[in-house]
Amino acid sequence: MLTLGCHLSASKGFLHMGEEAVSIGANTFQFFTRNPRGFKVKDLDVKDCEAFVEYWKEHNGGKIIAHAPYTLNACSADERTRELAHMIMSDDLARLEHVPGNYYNFHPGSHVKQGVEVGIDYIVKLLNEIITPEQKTTVLLETMAGKGSEIGRTFEELRAIIDRVECKEKIGVCLDTCHIFDGGYDIVNNLDGVFEEFDNVIGLDKLYAVHLNDSKNPLGNHKDRHELIGKGNIGIDAIAAFINYSAVRNLPIVLETPNDLPGYKQEIAMLRTMRNA
Ligand code: FE
Ligand code: FE
Ligand code: ZN
Repeated sequence: MLTLGCHLSASKGFLHMGEEAVSIGANTFQFFTRNPRGFKVKDLDVKDCEAFVEYWKEHNGGKIIAHAPYTLNACSADERTRELAHMIMSDDLARLEHVPGNYYNFHPGSHVKQGVEVGIDYIVKLLNEIITPEQKTTVLLETMAGKGSEIGRTFEELRAIIDRVECKEKIGVCLDTCHIFDGGYDIVNNLDGVFEEFDNVIGLDKLYAVHLNDSKNPLGNHKDRHELIGKGNIGIDAIAAFINYSAVRNLPIVLETPNDLPGYKQEIAMLRTMRNA
């Protein structure tokens, strides 16, 4: 069975997200660790974490994805912004120890005129400061569309980061289908070639999770506008081929399409019928 779910609101806690996921046929989900545009966070409710872990085990839930706020920039030219990223990511990771064994996904950051190399230096430094061999969470770099000066549009950039992270077993990649398509990787006409390239540059053993989205824009436009599954420029056939691809079949797949809960429920049901035996 596909490990499939969608992005959910974390405002009512972990157990509520678990129940909501189950109610729409999901066996994974993603949530923002805190206000995605600011950094506000509620007090950690340890009882809620424990109740969720228990509930999720009973319902055979897969690995879930915590998403860092997207205003966080680990490679900002401004030292205070980098310190804030450090503080937030280490606090998020400390909290996630209460729901152990899952993923923490973040956007590598925007280098804003400093150049890719300087940006990557900052990201690597931060990751080596916050990732510990003892932690139970694996940190994922998200593949980006290449808007502005975003780092992570090319597989080479992600590889350059992973290469220099000391704790290799705690770092991986979350592939966003809209982002790589917008970034110029043609998963519609050359899915095999794209996976081959991923494997050659990063290694498919580093692919841990997927964001499944269609795209409002054409290949290589660097825009990052998600569309409903089958309603965009990736299209239903390419999506079907993608979710059945050997490297993806056993990964947690999370929808970030412009949807409400009933819409997600429909997309999840539709995608489950598209999974080949
Ligand atoms: Fe993201
Ligand atoms: Fe994404
Ligand atoms: Zn996006």
